Amino acid sequence: MTPDTAEVDLDAAEAAAAALLVALGQDLGSAHVADTPRRMVAAYAELLTVEPFDFTTFPNSEGYDELVLVEDIPVRSVCEHHMLPFVGVAHVGYLPADRVLGLSKLARVVDFYSHRPQTQERLTQQVAEHLQTHLSPRGAGVVVEAEHTCMTLRGVRAMGSRTVTSALLGRLRTDAASRAEFLGLTRDRRTR
Ligand code: ZN
Repeated sequence: MTPDTAEVDLDAAEAAAAALLVALGQDLGSAHVADTPRRMVAAYAELLTVEPFDFTTFPNSEGYDELVLVEDIPVRSVCEHHMLPFVGVAHVGYLPADRVLGLSKLARVVDFYSHRPQTQERLTQQVAEHLQTHLSPRGAGVVVEAEHTCMTLRGVRAMGSRTVTSALLGRLRTDAASRAEFLGLTRDRRTR
């Protein structure tokens, strides 16, 4: 998987960050903040850049056919409306068909789609669709719960509020028992 983002121009970004801070009435004159535009740009570049990775799958030679679920995968992303972070966890699962994959790859997929300006709804959907397209499981499910700092630090200042989104595909959507199992496991996680 290779990100489709353009090159980062750190010098241009640093000059723009300095101009933005000055326009916001900030004094960049003191030694403590002289380097702030560079640090600000480095922080955003890290949040918006991701390394490519191989989404390697393997034959399901054991014939494992029950739910595979990885819980509490960290989510660190940036909301595309305010460029402020949203932070939380993802629970990602699938019902294997002919292929399986290393469990760490589920976390890599979440990371891959998090490192760009996002909405939580789209992130949730993209992770589920990635599994459906590249693994062809019988079903794929994703639940994301996150705190949006654009909502908790500013605006309505709904401190402590969390947003929960889910995307269910294949049998995890259509089969009532599979759906209930997946949502039950991830809901238990939330109330623990
Ligand atoms: Zn926002």
